[in-house]
Amino acid sequence: MRSALAVESENYNDAVTATLQRIFWTAPILAAGNLLASLAFWLQEEPVDATEILWRSLIVKVNLLVSMVSLIIFFVSWLMKRQSSIRVQRVFIYVVIAFVLSSGLCITLIDHLVMPGITPLVISVTIVGTFYYLTPKQAILVFLLSFAAFRTAFSVLEMSSANLQSSALVNGLVVNAMGLALSWVNWQHFQRTKRQERTIEEQQASLRKMAYHDYLTQLPNRHFLDELMQKEVDLVRRTGANCCIIICDIDHFKNVNDTYGHLAGDDLLRAFGQLLQENIRSGSTLVRLGGEEFVILAPNTSLKQGAIAAERLRDLVEKHTFYLEQNAVKITASFGVATLTGTEEARDYYHRADRALYTAKNRGRNQVGVAS
Ligand code: GH3
Ligand code: MG
Ligand code: MG
Repeated sequence: MRSALAVESENYNDAVTATLQRIFWTAPILAAGNLLASLAFWLQEEPVDATEILWRSLIVKVNLLVSMVSLIIFFVSWLMKRQSSIRVQRVFIYVVIAFVLSSGLCITLIDHLVMPGITPLVISVTIVGTFYYLTPKQAILVFLLSFAAFRTAFSVLEMSSANLQSSALVNGLVVNAMGLALSWVNWQHFQRTKRQERTIEEQQASLRKMAYHDYLTQLPNRHFLDELMQKEVDLVRRTGANCCIIICDIDHFKNVNDTYGHLAGDDLLRAFGQLLQENIRSGSTLVRLGGEEFVILAPNTSLKQGAIAAERLRDLVEKHTFYLEQNAVKITASFGVATLTGTEEARDYYHRADRALYTAKNRGRNQVGVAS
């Protein structure tokens, strides 16, 4: 289980990545939108009034500038997505937010030359509030600063009446509060989605583990072996590589159950699996096939090497003392060794090893049978 702090920092990093991705997608749309706005104002009939001429010229220029900067943002975000550290990405996101909000404020101020209203700022705040993921603390900081900038700009601006001035201020406050609310809802939604994703991932991992592992010993199970074997059979067919299969069956295991009980038998199976696991080569895979039968799949191992390995394990088991509730228990096991020839199908992979095991059992157990 990950700690709450680790999850929070992972969430935060995911939010930065997701925001960068959204900046990447929205920047070209902003660039196109502002370019169109600029063109639309430029194509309008030439106003007669000097203030309107100034307004139109400023609007055309600022929209064009915003469009060009948006294109730059698009390219920089593309670069940042690839290689920047999370810290650099975070700074970049703040710069983009400052740019979006200040361009909205700037266009709003220019509009005030000819009309009241703060639509451009509303658009900017909505973009920041809905598209970019900000933690509640970041959002408070961003929209507080945004409102402070708005207030400063409007106190400098000369308005025709004090009523208009205070109404603009109230509007600015409402709009930034709306940005904060949007941001908050957005962040809650992001966190909920992340939580759900994480739960699904954990459930999938646990299902995968259940499907491929034996509950008692926690070793891979037959299902796992079948898939691994299919890969090995293909590899042997393609490259002629060596692959050895060793089957191991505990001798007279029924006696253990009969003497010490089924639960103690389970403990022995666990300890036996662990003993084998600790003593096989690192590239080999130990599987519990079922009951007291185990399989070792050893890639890049010849029949002779496989037989030596099996003999070593047989000796180890014979010399090992298991403890079942303070009872010292000695057991032996029989082994069957075969190689994959590349001609057999995956489903009859262990057939020859099983026959070799049968021979070992028939010859008196506690021995290694090798398939010819
Ligand atoms: P052999 O030397 O011929 O292999 O004799 P054996 O007694 O080991 O083999 P047999 O097939 O006669 O008996 C296997 C026993 O393993 C019977 C069964 O109750 C026991 N067994 C199978 N699965 C489990 C398990 O998960 N837990 C326990 N405790 N016993 C199991
Ligand atoms: Mg047995
Ligand atoms: Mg058996």
